[in-house]
Amino acid sequence: MNDTQADRLATRTFDTTAYAASSPTSGLAPATIRRREPRPTDVQLEVLFCGVCHSDLHQVRDEWHKNMPTTYPCVPGHEIVGRVVKAGSAVRRFREGDLAAVGCIVDSCRTCPSCQDGEEQFCEGPAMFTYNSPDRFVGGVTFGGYSKSVVVDEAFALQISDRLGLAGTAPLLCAGITTYSPLRRANVGKTSKVGVVGLGGLGHMGVKLANALGARVVVFTTSPRKAEDAIRLGAHDVVVSTEPAEMRKQAKSFDFILDTVSAAHDLNGYLPMLKRDGTLTMVGAPEAPLPIEVMNLVLARRRFTGSLIGGIRETQEMLDFCLEHGLTADVEVIPIQKIDEAYERLVRNDVKYRFVIDMASLG
Ligand code: NAP
Ligand code: ZN
Ligand code: ZN
Repeated sequence: MNDTQADRLATRTFDTTAYAASSPTSGLAPATIRRREPRPTDVQLEVLFCGVCHSDLHQVRDEWHKNMPTTYPCVPGHEIVGRVVKAGSAVRRFREGDLAAVGCIVDSCRTCPSCQDGEEQFCEGPAMFTYNSPDRFVGGVTFGGYSKSVVVDEAFALQISDRLGLAGTAPLLCAGITTYSPLRRANVGKTSKVGVVGLGGLGHMGVKLANALGARVVVFTTSPRKAEDAIRLGAHDVVVSTEPAEMRKQAKSFDFILDTVSAAHDLNGYLPMLKRDGTLTMVGAPEAPLPIEVMNLVLARRRFTGSLIGGIRETQEMLDFCLEHGLTADVEVIPIQKIDEAYERLVRNDVKYRFVIDMASLG
């Protein structure tokens, strides 16, 4: 018997309610799912708020079929804030009644080089992601935060405060860390000029965080109506990316560009904007391959990279940074019954700037 089989046999479960998709086109509907009873190192949270990430929509609609096919039923949600309702006997960092948060990762092997480096998202185990990952305790796949309760090992639970509001804190668990991590890796600071491409859930956090790190921030948007918001959120300048003359003016001026766009778009408009040795990092995850004009890299030793969320230690660092700087997401709180409508609005680019589900609406 291997470890996984042993884990599964030893696991007791309970039923809880959630919203699940049963196919790429079904939309989401109420469902009953199984969670494990907390083990000694686990905490069980009552979910209070859960952010709606564009990744939830990609996954529910099986838009990442090639790399991460969706198993149905699918319960998305990885921007989770909640209250601890049960803490296992060996839990040290949380007590019943404490607030806690869960992001995109719920377990990992803890011994591989990535885990040792605190980069559990790249665990060779592989990492157990919050939804649509094989669940080694319960079987089937993991279920996310569009649910009444979640159970997680305390090593993957984050400490949060309600000082800045819980609804606005939820999106930090994905949109926050996904933008913070590459900004920090690029050493963004007071002397940096940073571009943020796409002003959605990730993009608006990227703007706030780059501003808080002291950078000069320029937003690139396809939506001229967002220009005023971009400045309010902390940008120093806004470029409408569908205006070629405006785009050309930005040539060779950026140290770092963070691309958060969820759909296919032309990267060759952005690469020439980097200075020598500048970096463009993709966090947006369109499924279709995007062509790169290699000369745009070669002629100025530019770098084109990707980044995936961030590890647990860095996620806690980001939450603490946001608390210190008074940063949360700009959110529209919705009841879970409006989730299909919210997805439609996300596709239409009609959200300012993150939907967050008030899980009390699940009843
Ligand atoms: P979002 O709120 O929908 O924002 C995406 C933004 O992209 C939109 O607001 C829009 O900004 C721009 N955009 C949309 N369609 C476009 C098009 N056809 N051409 C050019 N620009 C377009 O989504 P999100 O939640 O921020 O997520 C963004 C992407 O990041 C998704 O692909 C998601 O799966 C991915 N993601 C990756 C990670 C990671 O770890 N790497 C983590 C979370 C999410 P403007 O109106 O300003 O142009
Ligand atoms: Zn996400
Ligand atoms: Zn590992």
